[in-house]
Amino acid sequence: MDTELDWSPYDSYGLGDAFAATPSAGGAFGKAAAVCIGNRQCQRTGNGVMCPSFRVTDDPAHSTQHRAATLKAALNGEYGPQPFIGPELEAAMDLCVGCKGCKRECPNGVDMALLRVESLAQRWAQLGGPPGRERLLANLPRLAPWLGRLNWLIRLRNRVPILARLGERWLGIAAQRSLPEGRSSSFLDGQSREPLGMPQGREVVLLVDTFSNHLEPANAQAAVDVLLAAGYRVHLARPTEGQRPLCCGRTYLSNGLVAQARAEAERMIAALVDYAECGLPIIGLEPSCLLMLRDEYFALGLGPAAAKVAKSALLLEEFLAKEHDAKRLELPLRPLPARRALVHGHCHQKAFGAMKSMRKVLGLVPDLEFELIESSCCGIAGAFGLEAEHYAVSMRMGELSLLPAVRQAEPDALVVANGTSCRHQIHDGAGRESVHLARVLQAALDRPG
Ligand code: SF4
Ligand code: SF4
Repeated sequence: MDTELDWSPYDSYGLGDAFAATPSAGGAFGKAAAVCIGNRQCQRTGNGVMCPSFRVTDDPAHSTQHRAATLKAALNGEYGPQPFIGPELEAAMDLCVGCKGCKRECPNGVDMALLRVESLAQRWAQLGGPPGRERLLANLPRLAPWLGRLNWLIRLRNRVPILARLGERWLGIAAQRSLPEGRSSSFLDGQSREPLGMPQGREVVLLVDTFSNHLEPANAQAAVDVLLAAGYRVHLARPTEGQRPLCCGRTYLSNGLVAQARAEAERMIAALVDYAECGLPIIGLEPSCLLMLRDEYFALGLGPAAAKVAKSALLLEEFLAKEHDAKRLELPLRPLPARRALVHGHCHQKAFGAMKSMRKVLGLVPDLEFELIESSCCGIAGAFGLEAEHYAVSMRMGELSLLPAVRQAEPDALVVANGTSCRHQIHDGAGRESVHLARVLQAALDRPG
């Protein structure tokens, strides 16, 4: 079978006893599913992230183990010649939110988020393409520039329940969800193409993702302010060809549109590889976007340039923590009016161990006491929680720990969440606003005057 993703790193799996039960078809893709040895650690509910869908359903049919077993059975021909469009795989994958909790916490590192993408891509190939809603959600980076002009409609839909219900009927977007409003102009529209800051500053690259560019430009501005205040010279990443802003490809990939994700990734690599070769750190704000450069880009088969970029790609908190450790960080900060903060980690921050950097950087703000919420996935997970059929389970994921913790926080405490989806869930589920770390640091900058 031809796979959409590059599974060759799993080629050598299955040579030993532990992975002897590799499926008869699927090659290295099948071996990646056979990494699961079935010890059902993903069916426990202690601390950690894995597996949010099992945690809320308490049903082994919604665990990583069952997904891996179903995939192996499909590749062994147990569900007929076209298993990817059959009900078994669809049901097994239905509640996987792609959080990567299993990749980090499963003792064998089963990467179900990626296995799910391949399964979806195979499904769309056999069906002749994805349905309209998945196509719409995947194309958010292309649609985002138009959202500002449609704000009147989005506001109306968010305030008039009958319109939200019509949207649910026509588009499958949950009526109970608020929809994000766009901005009349993007962050990058208003920026010079020249680097920002003093010529003698250490050069860095800021990768402004679709969400920060079109939906929350204040986050991109906050990151620029913080980097400039610390004396860096900031290049804003731009495409090498054309005007369309860069996009990591995440929305395409998580909806199973692998070819489109690869096309976005190729534009991204072309724009960043020269910076990476010159040793400039490439800094991102949205965990699911930036960390894609260090993770899924390897599965998109993008060659050595992607590996160079991956080595330079850092979340803002990782970059600042590294600079602090190297005693290079000179960030003038003063106490904030709020003295307490509650912090929710995005699943991908947790999967890549970035919460240590969050702690370190928040610890630089004088007199700020903060607490990490012991939470699993927020429940929105990109588009999952927007989909009408997933709304209820998405809220149950939020209610596991995140939303109750936010509701119990003192009214004047800051709520910090670096994921766009996480902030959306906190807004919808707890009625509170939360902010990206960049905004916290920006507010704490000790600037003259
Ligand atoms: S997915 Fe991981 S934790 Fe779950 S049964 Fe398989 S090997 Fe064990
Ligand atoms: S990616 Fe997350 S939801 Fe999906 S199987 Fe792994 S832990 Fe469960």
